[in-house]
Amino acid sequence: MQAYYFTEEHELFRQSLRRFLEKEVLPFIDQWEEQQEVPKSLWKKFGDQGFLGLHYPEKYGGAGLDFFYTVVFCEEISKVFSGGFGVIQSVTQYMSSTYIYKYGSEALKQKYLLPVIKGEMISAIGISEPGAGSDVANIQTRAIRKGDFYIINGQKTFISNGYLGDYIVLVTKTQPEAGIEGISLIVVDLNSPGITKNKLKKLGWHASDTAEIFFENVQVPAENLIGEEGKGFFYLMDGLQLERLIGAIGSIAGTEALIEYTLRYMAERHAFGRPLNKFQVLRHRMAQLHAETEVLKEYVYYCCRLQNEGRYAVKECSIAKLLTTELANKAAYECLQMFGGYGYIEDYKVARVYRDVRILTIGGGTSEIMREIIAKMLIDDKHYLPPTQQAQTQDSDSLVQELITLLKERARGVNLDSSLKFDFGAHKLLIDGTAGTPTISEEDKEAACTILISPSDMKALLSGELNPMNAFLSGKIKVQGDMSVAMKLQKLFS
Ligand SMILES: Cc1cc2nc3c(=O)[nH]c(=O)nc-3n(C[C@H](O)[C@H](O)[C@H](O)COP(=O)(O)OP(=O)(O)OC[C@H]3O[C@@H](n4cnc5c(N)ncnc54)[C@H](O)[C@@H]3O)c2cc1C
Repeated sequence: MQAYYFTEEHELFRQSLRRFLEKEVLPFIDQWEEQQEVPKSLWKKFGDQGFLGLHYPEKYGGAGLDFFYTVVFCEEISKVFSGGFGVIQSVTQYMSSTYIYKYGSEALKQKYLLPVIKGEMISAIGISEPGAGSDVANIQTRAIRKGDFYIINGQKTFISNGYLGDYIVLVTKTQPEAGIEGISLIVVDLNSPGITKNKLKKLGWHASDTAEIFFENVQVPAENLIGEEGKGFFYLMDGLQLERLIGAIGSIAGTEALIEYTLRYMAERHAFGRPLNKFQVLRHRMAQLHAETEVLKEYVYYCCRLQNEGRYAVKECSIAKLLTTELANKAAYECLQMFGGYGYIEDYKVARVYRDVRILTIGGGTSEIMREIIAKMLIDDKHYLPPTQQAQTQDSDSLVQELITLLKERARGVNLDSSLKFDFGAHKLLIDGTAGTPTISEEDKEAACTILISPSDMKALLSGELNPMNAFLSGKIKVQGDMSVAMKLQKLFS
């Protein structure tokens, strides 16, 4: 299918990248898979050719190009039948250094982003720990500020590029008692004293290294903090959308390449006097895979367009990641079957693909977590805000605190006989009247009725500027659960 999103320039770029990969990468892939390492000197060649930092500004050595050049880059590196090779630059450029570019100081950009774009450094992102993968908020690694330094203690695991990488964007708690608002991102050189690393043996992605990393009193300059202290979780939630989209682009391109590879084999291999591609049952299976790939590819391109426009597409990126990685696994299983016994032998690339795709539904947020995000948006009417708006939300924290104090005052006299929660986004207020005199807390517990409202609308309601019924009819107030409980609140607004 002729893609609607690519210009002639994009296609010329694709051709030149392909020629480069045919010369500098394809002949060596088997060797790198065997050695479980890609020589770092290769990335310098990528950098010299201008293949790195396509979406970063020229000021930092990038090319300042639209996102569809990045799409071409990710598609082509995903078609070489080595997930391990592809992930090294995916993690470096789109999953770790991207935080330095978006939120880091100029000094951090000069020190850590420029070398990445030149191909002189590779980087890692350190979220997962032995006790916290999906549950990011539960990380235990600590960075305690002492004068001009942070002292870091803790452990990360499953870190791509963690062994051979030059630095890690470390997700750590700077204020352990502050929950997600105590999480910060800090750049840590991976050869710092106090760091020890082990390479993990893994099922697939053999050309890349995945490490567990221990931090023991690692001293890092305070200026290595990315952005502001306590904002790390929100930066991460923003960055994860790109990470998931990159995963989706790679998954669909890899699936497409695998289908082509399998069809070539099916045309050559004969059984019962005819090529495999003449057996209807096999043809239909391939046609089905092709159909699913085509449809999902267009959806992924749509998500890329949203990315290109700077939109914060949480649901779309989650859907794309979920469906493309699940399809990649299904396709690997079914394509391997077409090869019969040869599919199980390393001489055929399908065996490696089969191993490599298994991580795709796990890394960067599992399929279950993707479904959870989609379900929250679909069923609970949850809205995810981009970090800039999160910052505004935090700026309005003082307003929320003011409202909570006022509501606590007014709610004392209300006879509720039930429980009701105000949901102001990051903050909640629970009025629990189930045991007589209402108790008022900021706990985020289930209530018989939940009122979703923005702090500014709540302020307008309390001051009488906004009429409760009008607010309800215009959607400024949303009520979930028992409406009769909400009706008892008239007193609050009088
Ligand atoms: C090869 C490889 C490379 C990786 N690279 C990196 C990296 O570079 N940086 C990094 O930080 N991490 C990396 N990871 C870690 C990866 O992101 C995590 O493995 C992943 O997020 C899942 O976390 P977990 O392994 O702790 O599983 P858990 O969170 O323990 O989940 C176990 C199972 O429970 C399910 N589950 C958990 N919570 C829920 C829920 N609320 N509802 C339903 N089901 C749930 C999960 O879907 C999963 O099936 C990598 C992992 C691998 C294997």
